[in-house]
Amino acid sequence: LFQGLGFAPVIEVFDLNRRFYADESPEKVNLGLGAYRNDDGEPWVLPVVHKAEELVVSNRTLNHEYLPICGLPEFRQAATRLALGSESVVIKENRVLSIQTIGGTGSLRLAAEFLKQKLHLDTVLISSLTWDNHSGIFKATGYSQVNEYRYWNPGTKGLDLDGLLADLQNATEKTVVILHTCAHNTTATDPSPQQWKQIVSVLKERKLIPVMDCTYQGLVSGDVDEDAYPLRLLASDGVEFLIAQSFSKNFGLYNERLGNLAIITKDSSTIDEMRSQCEMIIRRIWSNPPHHGARVVATILNDKSLYQEWKDQVIIMADRIKLMRKMLHERLVNLKTPGDWNHVLTQTGMFVYTGMTSPQVKYLTSKFHIYLTKMGRINMCAMTTKNVDYVSKAIHEAVTT
Ligand code: PMP
Repeated sequence: LFQGLGFAPVIEVFDLNRRFYADESPEKVNLGLGAYRNDDGEPWVLPVVHKAEELVVSNRTLNHEYLPICGLPEFRQAATRLALGSESVVIKENRVLSIQTIGGTGSLRLAAEFLKQKLHLDTVLISSLTWDNHSGIFKATGYSQVNEYRYWNPGTKGLDLDGLLADLQNATEKTVVILHTCAHNTTATDPSPQQWKQIVSVLKERKLIPVMDCTYQGLVSGDVDEDAYPLRLLASDGVEFLIAQSFSKNFGLYNERLGNLAIITKDSSTIDEMRSQCEMIIRRIWSNPPHHGARVVATILNDKSLYQEWKDQVIIMADRIKLMRKMLHERLVNLKTPGDWNHVLTQTGMFVYTGMTSPQVKYLTSKFHIYLTKMGRINMCAMTTKNVDYVSKAIHEAVTT
C-alpha cells in the first residue's frame, strides 16, 4: 500500500537545523531558521512571557476544557487591537472577525480555505521571492493559479516598486494578494509609507483582496504601532482584507503555535455568517485551538503594565538585531569585502538577504560550519558579539575565493 511514495522535497530550514545539530564543530553557527537568539546564541524566553505563564499556571480557576472553535475571546480581541490599533474604527464598528489559529501558518491556511471554499477564489499573487510556504499553502488548498508579482530588484538590491504596481494593475478583480506587513521574509525590504499608499491605492482600485502576513510586528522599528502602518492604512481606506498574524516571533512563542486571523469587512452584518462558515472549516481541520499561548498573550496584552513590559522587550530584540547589522556591516567594510554591503544596514527585520550565491553559501557551510539558506538569507538574530568576527571573515573568504 505505501510503497513507491518517494520523498517529498526537503524543507530547507528544518533540514539546515538537523544538519546544524549533527555538526560537531565548536565553531558552527546557524543563520538559517528565523528564530530570535540572545547574545549568547540561546533562545530567549521573554521575561514578561515567564511572568504571564506563572500567572496562568497558578490560576486554579482555569481548566483544560475545549475552547470555542474560534478560540479565546480575550486573546482574539487583543490580537486584533494590536494589529489595527486601539482607536481602530473598524473595531469600533464591529467590522472585524477574529479567529485564533495555529500559528501564522494556520492563519494563512484558514484564509486560503475560506477564500477558496466560500468565495470561490482561485488565483493568488505572491511576491517574487517570499517565504516558501506562501505558494505551498495556497497550492495545497487547491488554487489553480499561484502567480508572482515583482518585488525584488537585484540590480538595486531594493524594492521593484514599478514592477510591483504594474503587476497589481494587471491582476484581475478579486485576485488574492499576499503582502508582508513588515520585515519581508526573504528580501528584508519593505515599502516606505509613501510607497504603501501607492500600493494600497492600486489594491483598492483593482478590487484585489489583500492577505497581510503579519509575522514580525515590532521587530523592524521596535515600535509595534509603527510596524503595523500598512494594516491601519488599508483599514482607514475602507479596503476589505485579511490579516494573518503570528505570535511566534514577537512573543517568542514559536512552538505554542499561536496566530490570529482577522477578516475586515465593510459591513458588520456579514460577521455572524462569516464566523459560522469559518467555524465549519476549522472544525474539519483542527477543531479548536490550544489554550496556553493564547492565555499568555491575552494576559500580557490586556494588562497595562505587562503590555508595556512586552513592548520594552520587543525593543530589546529589535535593537539587538540593529546592533548586529551595524557590527557585520562595519566588519565587511573594514575587510574590504568586494561589493556594496550597505543593504546589511538598510534592510529590515530579522533577516539580511545578502546577495551571496549558492556556491558561496555552500562554501560557508563546508568550510566554516555556517548554515544558511541557499538563497543567501541570513538570520541576523543568530549573530552575536562573539561570532560576528568569525562570520564576517568567513563571508569575506567565501566572496573572495
Ligand atoms: N509568514 C512568514 C513570512 C514567516 O516568516 C513565517 C515563519 N517563518 C510564518 C508566516 C509562519 O509563522 P508561524 O511559525 O507562526 O506559523
